[in-house]
Amino acid sequence: MAGYDDNNVFAKILRGEIPCDKVYEDDHVLAFNDINPQTPTHVLVIPKGQYVSSDDFFSEASDAEIAALFRAAGKIARDKGLPQDGYRILANCGRDAHQEVPHFHLHIFAGCDLGVMIRPNR
Ligand code: AMP
Repeated sequence: MAGYDDNNVFAKILRGEIPCDKVYEDDHVLAFNDINPQTPTHVLVIPKGQYVSSDDFFSEASDAEIAALFRAAGKIARDKGLPQDGYRILANCGRDAHQEVPHFHLHIFAGCDLGVMIRPNR
């Protein structure tokens, strides 16, 4: 995957150039509702650092950034009461996963039966 594109939509959200429906923020993490929700609850959790994908984040981010992202995802889920009925966390990486925005993000899906885990196009 190419280098970080500073003009991607999440970079613009982080710079405050376009708005988001914020759910959570700390020193390392911003979370906001997806603009095109696939489930009743659909939150995106992103690092504030410039990481293209999960591959980039997992190899290059500091332990503090990695811990912050997963702690934040857990806190958001708990604060919304999601563990009671369940939820799904997903990260798309690259072409085959149909990653659209080249800034690493976790999706949190909840609020309905989430169906089968994946339905691949073989
Ligand atoms: P992915 O395919 O994993 O890269 O997912 C990108 C997600 O970003 C999609 O679910 C989009 O609906 C969402 N998205 C794109 N632009 C925005 C935006 N301005 N605010 C919130 N979510 C967005």
